[in-house]
Amino acid sequence: MIDCHLHMGHSGRTAEETLDHCRGIGADAAWILALEAREKPNNCFFPTDDVMALYEQAPGVAIPFCNTDPRDDDALKRIEAYAKAGCRGFGDHSPALSVDEPLSKKLYKLCGEMGLPIMLQLVEYQCNYNCLDLTLVLEEFPNTTFIAHGPSFWSYIEMAPNPPDGYPEGPIREVGPAMQWLTDYPNLYADVSGQAGLNALTRDEDFAREEILGKHWQKILFGTDCPCFDGHGAGFWKGCYGEKLLAALEAVAPSPEALLGVLHNNAVRLVPLQGK
Ligand SMILES: [Zn+2]
Ligand SMILES: [Zn+2]
Repeated sequence: MIDCHLHMGHSGRTAEETLDHCRGIGADAAWILALEAREKPNNCFFPTDDVMALYEQAPGVAIPFCNTDPRDDDALKRIEAYAKAGCRGFGDHSPALSVDEPLSKKLYKLCGEMGLPIMLQLVEYQCNYNCLDLTLVLEEFPNTTFIAHGPSFWSYIEMAPNPPDGYPEGPIREVGPAMQWLTDYPNLYADVSGQAGLNALTRDEDFAREEILGKHWQKILFGTDCPCFDGHGAGFWKGCYGEKLLAALEAVAPSPEALLGVLHNNAVRLVPLQGK
């Protein structure tokens, strides 16, 4: 099993505690995501250099993703350097910019050329906003792989969600653009991490079983984005997202093959366990 969404330093978690989280939920490895959007507060700013240090310490467990702020002059150069040093993806891309902002598009293009999948956090009014313009991005960069997640991606599984940037409740009334993107664009995947993914899997179980996993399990990835310390909820009042997401996925997976795809095979297909 692979956790495709884990942050080094989340809630002040140390390197050892980050590895504990991976082991605690029973994962073999985790994509360790940096987050360097400049407006993020200290407790949500995760430098790539810390990710690389964890990779040095545990290269078999930590699969490193780099991140740079698209507004920095050296944003592209640093990506190239980190890729040379072993980074296998880019993200968590979360700047307070429109999703189709020209500076971000330079990163999308470079990551496509370098074969680095991009973790993309969509939160309307906050980061990668004007989320519905993701259509334009997916059209323009067919050779770049995007893994979308966050409150707005999972809100937009429904048409006209309320709110579009939070955790809408109840059954899905009309299928929304996020599901259409998964159908239309081979370069789009999604991860179920955090409260947003958990909400999408549990608010309408029939929809999750038939639509999200039934139709798209080959493009859905398990990730926790959990800030707890041990994979069992220590230090996080909500408990471990890993445990909750595993239970939710088991409840709605349409087949054992689909469950294995989401928990492991899809992630390994996108980012092989061994570095280049
Ligand atoms: Zn994240
Ligand atoms: Zn946890």
